[in-house]
Amino acid sequence: MVIVDCHAHLSDELFHDVLSDMILDFQKEDIFVISVGMNYKDFEEVVKIATENKGSVGFGLGLHPIQCGKIDKRPLSVDDTTKLPDLLDKFSSSAICLGECGLDFSKWLCPTSTERDMQRSALKVQIELSKKHNLPLNLHSRSAGKPLLDILRQNHVEGALLHAFDGGKKAIKQGVEDGHYFSIAPSIVRDPSQKQVATSVPLDRLVLESDSPALGPVKGQTNTPLNLLQTVDCLADLLNCSKEHVIEVTTENALRLFPKLRDHIKL
Ligand SMILES: [Zn+2]
Repeated sequence: MVIVDCHAHLSDELFHDVLSDMILDFQKEDIFVISVGMNYKDFEEVVKIATENKGSVGFGLGLHPIQCGKIDKRPLSVDDTTKLPDLLDKFSSSAICLGECGLDFSKWLCPTSTERDMQRSALKVQIELSKKHNLPLNLHSRSAGKPLLDILRQNHVEGALLHAFDGGKKAIKQGVEDGHYFSIAPSIVRDPSQKQVATSVPLDRLVLESDSPALGPVKGQTNTPLNLLQTVDCLADLLNCSKEHVIEVTTENALRLFPKLRDHIKL
């Protein structure tokens, strides 16, 4: 059965020279990848890679809560979202989800409440666009688990993907209550917080992600979608079930979360 990587960055510069080999490698293992954009600069490449690799790669477009400014990283603002509606009008019919977007309240990136409110406002714009285009959200949250879940609840969002969720037990519970899904990365082999998510969330809300090139099984090493096989091994151990069961359930969940996946993968 197909294994679905619900969140990866195949457009990352690190993959530029090795992309075609990398895609062949994960195709062999029957892995389908949803590659998500984070800023206007990578959108073209994200769409191109998916278009050229139909049946193995799909895409999502969104604006990451932290953008690279001229010199430094800076929080996303509503002004940044002005070009997004036109882009989604053009690409939403072929996109699988809207994202990567979300909230990142890391202290060194977003120290003031004004900046945190800027991010919230920019996310609200993307929530509205996701409703307009009927595209589920593919969400980033760092040090912002509860604020993210609150904003989703206030805006009546159900069934979004919380990728690499780092919130505590209470926040995980709220996410489950509100119908959201949690993706587990290959970093689970070394990261107790990912293990906590995997064992706290009902099995019908777990999906897989690589977040390539980040969140690999070995810290500091470039991650690829192929490492989903290690996530599957680890989850089978942790949840005391077979690898086949992990694959079957996470793929079924991904199809429920992202209905347009059905247009891309053979079942
Ligand atoms: Zn990501």
